[in-house]
Amino acid sequence: METFQPGIQPKLCQRCILPDTFPGIKFDANGICNHCLREESAIARATSKKAEYRSRLDNLIKECKGKAPAYDAVMAYSGGKDSSYTLKLLKERYKLRILSLTLDNHFISPVSLENIKRITDNLQCDNIMFRPPWDLVKTVFVQTAQEDVFSPTTLLRASSICTACIGLVKALVLKTALEMSIPLVAFGWSPGQAPIQAAIMKTNPGLTRQSQSALKKAFPGDIRAQMDGYFVPDIYYEMYNDRFPCNIHPLAFFDYNEAKIMQELRDFGWQAPSDTDTNSSNCLLNAFANQCHLRRHGFHPYVWEIANMVRQKVMDRDEGIEKIYTEQNRKMVEYAKEKLGL
Ligand SMILES: [Zn+2]
Repeated sequence: METFQPGIQPKLCQRCILPDTFPGIKFDANGICNHCLREESAIARATSKKAEYRSRLDNLIKECKGKAPAYDAVMAYSGGKDSSYTLKLLKERYKLRILSLTLDNHFISPVSLENIKRITDNLQCDNIMFRPPWDLVKTVFVQTAQEDVFSPTTLLRASSICTACIGLVKALVLKTALEMSIPLVAFGWSPGQAPIQAAIMKTNPGLTRQSQSALKKAFPGDIRAQMDGYFVPDIYYEMYNDRFPCNIHPLAFFDYNEAKIMQELRDFGWQAPSDTDTNSSNCLLNAFANQCHLRRHGFHPYVWEIANMVRQKVMDRDEGIEKIYTEQNRKMVEYAKEKLGL
């Protein structure tokens, strides 16, 4: 197997696959990293909390289901395996009225577009495809491909390109929830992307304003002005003060097994795209975003997520290594670079 930087073999944690290039990492005499040592008891606690979170979600849904005028939940729906599975879970287990919302970032793979149609049709679920104009999207991706505009902590967990795109998605679903009085906002974060402690979280105007403002400020002034209309308008914090939704990401507390998820989705008409990379089942920009991050930081932007899953034993170590320490698909990298004119 080729490593991402031929000739340089990073030393990996013997348990979770974080590399010695990861900022602040330390290894003990057995080659186990400080994150694994620190997380040991937290993981045991989190595992024992899964049932509690499932019943918390049951209760929350009992409280709010059917009360809102149109939808019980708005779902950030990329068409990838995790959000497809989450949508199916919420629809089948809870019979919620769900509005699925897809940000068309101009890099959704054709197979994924088909998956979005097929899954939302099969689930009898509405979908809105939101597509900002190419010039704006291109400006944002060119900027984030060339420069890390976000905080170092943010960049430990995702590339600049992904962070910008996800920031737009989060703002979009929140605005929709506020405008349509929808009580739940659902995400398909994997158990490695977002911790169980945050898996059911009421949002509030104060903290939302802070995080929106931090995200906006990260962009240079001219791009910020163009993007302004996509974030939560200031007036909403007052106007919709009493209807800030609850964010949920159920995959943190339902059993997560990638092979089983893929099988269940395939039986439901979902197809695994062959044209995306190992860490995304929907986006044609991801390989290039990963490559930009690797070159600037020396570690893979998905390694935090995958290491978490290996540590939590929801993914095999070998599988994790294969996902992270394989060279980016050159054809995909070239495709994205050419489209962005880089
Ligand atoms: Zn480790």
